[in-house]
Amino acid sequence: MSELTLDPQNWEDFRALAHRMIDDMISHLSTLDSQPVWTVAPEQVRAALDKPVPYVGQGMEKTYRDFQQYVLPYSLGTPHPRFWGWVQGSGAPFAMLADMLASGMNTHMGGFNQTPAVVERQVVAWLAELMGLPHGSGGVFESGGTMANILGLAVARHVKAGYDVRESGLRFGPDLAVYCSTETHSWAQRGVELLGMGNRSLRRIAVNREFQMDVKALEAAIVSDRAVGMRPIAVIGTAGTVNTGACDDLAALADLCERHALWFHVDGAFGALLAVSAKHRHLVKGMECADSMAFDLHKWMSMPFECAVTLVRDDRELLNTFALAGDYLRQASRGPSAGGLYFSHRGVDLTRGFKALKAWMSLKAYGVMAFAALVEQNIDQVQHLVRVVAEYPELEMVAPAPLNVACFRYVGGGGSAARLNQLNEELLVRLQESGEATPSNTVINGKYSIRVANVNHRSKLADFDRLVTAVLKIGREVSRAFPA
Ligand SMILES: *Cc1c(COP(=O)(O)O)cnc(C)c1O
Repeated sequence: MSELTLDPQNWEDFRALAHRMIDDMISHLSTLDSQPVWTVAPEQVRAALDKPVPYVGQGMEKTYRDFQQYVLPYSLGTPHPRFWGWVQGSGAPFAMLADMLASGMNTHMGGFNQTPAVVERQVVAWLAELMGLPHGSGGVFESGGTMANILGLAVARHVKAGYDVRESGLRFGPDLAVYCSTETHSWAQRGVELLGMGNRSLRRIAVNREFQMDVKALEAAIVSDRAVGMRPIAVIGTAGTVNTGACDDLAALADLCERHALWFHVDGAFGALLAVSAKHRHLVKGMECADSMAFDLHKWMSMPFECAVTLVRDDRELLNTFALAGDYLRQASRGPSAGGLYFSHRGVDLTRGFKALKAWMSLKAYGVMAFAALVEQNIDQVQHLVRVVAEYPELEMVAPAPLNVACFRYVGGGGSAARLNQLNEELLVRLQESGEATPSNTVINGKYSIRVANVNHRSKLADFDRLVTAVLKIGREVSRAFPA
């Protein structure tokens, strides 16, 4: 009897299965256009997934068949060329392979004396340079934009609280205040809640008609909060808001933060990537002045989920916010532990995966110019959509679409605000259920909108024409069901 291991008993059989899995996934990815974007899982599929704990294994072959039968066909459809829901990201095939290599290596990325750590530091340095941050900045890969932004806010709290928050918590000082706009993504609320400052500390400043933070209102709020004894610590600017793709006036925010000695954090979840495009980088002017920033690589850089980065202008501040070590983590001057826990000292996670590999391999394989071209292509496609929408009196834009996000609705048949909201809600769900396209929804100034957020490297111009055709067809059907 041999001792137990999870390695295959027959590596050649395993190799054959592995090759088949890769072939099947490549077939899936190369035929997405002819598949529905999304298909609801039938009851029998849900029933087939509702199984007792598998105490005795059924083997790899059968398990892979279960995946093919029950899992793959009923996923969200994110990689599909007509998926533009929320802001997610379509994933690049080469990066998928990098993820497999990273899992195969299964190296622990707390830090350590290993080239994978050198790779992550290198990618962080590349990204900092692309964002215009100076030498001496630092950063760390994170799961998503939410976590990556929260780390930035944690550094802000550490540096600006005015006393040692790490040692004493938030019990002793005045109430802290953090400023964002009413259009800032909900990560900010999660952040202030998690960091113990409470939702009350998040001051949501009004926006102008372009959905940018009103800088005058911001300054007034800071002054009046100070007057009542609060301690303002940070301003969160957004490069590319989730609702409409607006970019705050980051240069004005940077200037204001400088004058008021506040931390300037930029949420660039997708919009930070504008910095790589010579055509669009003026929109994020001032971002290079940020004390910290965060963005997703799974959105406009098409890395498979999850992949995001936090960058901090002064690496020492990131380190001071998070570094700690038990005796069992003490580093040596030579050997595998030399270099210590470089990344664990710059974030919350101790054990971390090698997310940086897919970014490193993709940047090297495709080059930054390709990502810049994709950013420009996605914006051009949405500007095309805006023009097509304008051609039909039955359609209207609901908000300005300066970038790669468009919010529009069907207004055929006219009628009350309530009717149009109901009609568009039904229209959107029917469109999603048809499998033809997956935009998502938002509500802007009380108007329920169909929202297209395009960070999709597979979309073509014709896909947006197909969207409009489908919206008109379904809109006319639904319009009859909702008489004005
Ligand atoms: C997507 C998004 C986030 C959150 O990022 P996740 O990766 O989903 O956690 C934050 N801010 C903006 C502007 C976003 O678009």
